[in-house]
Amino acid sequence: MSIFEIKGLVREYDGEPALKNININIGAQALGVIGKSGSGKTTLLKILAGLLTPSQGKLSFNGTEVTPAVLLDLRRRVTMVFQTPQFLNGTVRTNLSYGLRIRGVSDEEIKRKVSDALDLVSLEAYGERYARNLSGGEQQRVALARALILDPEVLLLDEPTSNLDPVNVSLITDILVQESEKRLVVISTHDLDQVKRIAKHVIFLEEGIITEQGDPYKLDSVNRFTENVYTGISNVEKGVSQVHVGDIIIRTSSPLTGRISLHVRPQDIIISKGWIETSARNQFRGLITGVNERDGIVMIDIDVGEVFTVQITRRSFNEMSLKLGEPVNISFKASSVLPL
Ligand code: ADP
Ligand code: MG
Repeated sequence: MSIFEIKGLVREYDGEPALKNININIGAQALGVIGKSGSGKTTLLKILAGLLTPSQGKLSFNGTEVTPAVLLDLRRRVTMVFQTPQFLNGTVRTNLSYGLRIRGVSDEEIKRKVSDALDLVSLEAYGERYARNLSGGEQQRVALARALILDPEVLLLDEPTSNLDPVNVSLITDILVQESEKRLVVISTHDLDQVKRIAKHVIFLEEGIITEQGDPYKLDSVNRFTENVYTGISNVEKGVSQVHVGDIIIRTSSPLTGRISLHVRPQDIIISKGWIETSARNQFRGLITGVNERDGIVMIDIDVGEVFTVQITRRSFNEMSLKLGEPVNISFKASSVLPL
């Protein structure tokens, strides 16, 4: 049986639809929700959490239609972790205890559960720290512990690691992989590596419609670009985003912050033998590690710390007399770096 059944779901804000005719059954397997900003991800998750009601259509939870009468039950069994967690004024322990206290759990059991939850997120010594003073990554781990301490049937996460550093992203992703064995996990994310690790099924939202869904390893929206997809942390400086991907920095003209995935089309990258004077904001030097020919077009892999695949014609390839193992430069414009 499905945990959630959604039929003909529409959600409007002031008469404007944010979700249009969503139909999906969500079983026990982890679900990923991907889509650009504004596509309706948060709205969908809030509806699943019982924090927003549909304008039209039907939502069932464990076979029962969600009506005001069962909403309270839904909210007890489903917890949501937001991109930016909010805390009560007080210690981590106060924050973790709160949900248990209002459920009437004994002091002794609360103590034990708080300690287990802190262990789970590797914050054993943080119980007496003031929650609002923790770093972003620590706060998000506390938020995850606060959700899991309630042992929810469903854990919803709305871009939980968008603003975090790679160490925290990987720590949280590992926990979510484990948790997805124990309960339904639904996660919205821009991080394609993360969605592949956690989700067994992915839906791709575009302007409030599911335009594609399936196995994340097979989904076109995730794998539309088999080459040149990079994930890193972006900071905006003077209108240009600098995305730290491994040891290199990729510049994109889209003003994005946080953890994002990017794509550069193989035909938008220029190869040169040495450094060139160019207005292109990205230029790297590396070695040719692969040469593959498809239909008169040559795809060259160049490792500059990250591997970039560059498409050139057979003719240019011959004219430049490029060879495996040779050092070359690649360059591409900031405007050619496309956020996914
Ligand atoms: P996402 O999480 O994918 O960025 P959202 O679900 O937040 O998308 O938003 C979907 C659409 O609904 C957007 O066009 C957004 O502007 C609009 N929207 C979201 N929340 C509200 C709100 N409280 N009031 C009015 N419009 C909203
Ligand atoms: Mg959102």
